[in-house]
Amino acid sequence: MIKLHNIEKIYTGPTHEQLKVLQIDRLDIAKGEKVALAGPSGSGKTTLLNIITGISTASQGEIWVNDEAVHTLDERARDEYRARTVGILFQTFNLLPGFTALENITLAMSFSSKIPPKDRQKRAKDLLEQLGLGGRLHHRPRQLSSGQQQRVALARALANRPALLIADEPTASVDFESARVIIELLETSSRENEATLLVASHDPAVLNAFDRVIQLNHKGQMVKPDEAGLPLKEAKLS
Ligand code: ADP
Ligand code: MG
Repeated sequence: MIKLHNIEKIYTGPTHEQLKVLQIDRLDIAKGEKVALAGPSGSGKTTLLNIITGISTASQGEIWVNDEAVHTLDERARDEYRARTVGILFQTFNLLPGFTALENITLAMSFSSKIPPKDRQKRAKDLLEQLGLGGRLHHRPRQLSSGQQQRVALARALANRPALLIADEPTASVDFESARVIIELLETSSRENEATLLVASHDPAVLNAFDRVIQLNHKGQMVKPDEAGLPLKEAKLS
């Protein structure tokens, strides 16, 4: 599903210094796998997710997603790839304030041709109902609690039946109980929609819910489970 080979990301700093923030020799994630991406703040989690989703590009290396060579695509082709293949749950939701919950989701479908126009309204409604928001279809984001906004954002991420569902620190701004609910929703939604799930987090409660944890160190390199001091469950799997 995801194959990375020799990935590096180098940023040029304010005084033109070169800063290598990500260095991954090899990473394979199978279709349907549920993987957590862990590491301290600044370890390159968001950078890596942005490279996989095509929001930004790597300085070198190959990124294959669903047998598509993402590293060869120009910006426009990456936008199309993203609409076709990836659902993203952003930490700040990024819902459009002028549109209702239902409209936020049908709009996302209009950026891709995957769901035929005649099915979009019903699919948006079904997704919101599945996530317990059947009574909030016509509410605008500011009329919803932050937990409800996040569920609208999740429905939107799932709208185009993405093969890959990505979430960046989805529990960073919520309490423990809401975090548990979000992780459960991500897991059940990815299972029901047959999507591969990749979640960046440094929240131990999140990491414990995943069978496989990829750990980055402060240099943006993958750490072997024994070096990271992870429990045996993860150590055995790698
Ligand atoms: P994480 O998500 O794990 O907290 P990030 O991927 O956001 O880490 O950042 C990794 C490193 O890259 C950090 O050291 C950060 O300062 C640096 N960085 C991120 N974005 C930029 C940028 N646009 N320009 C320069 N450096 C950046
Ligand atoms: Mg981040």
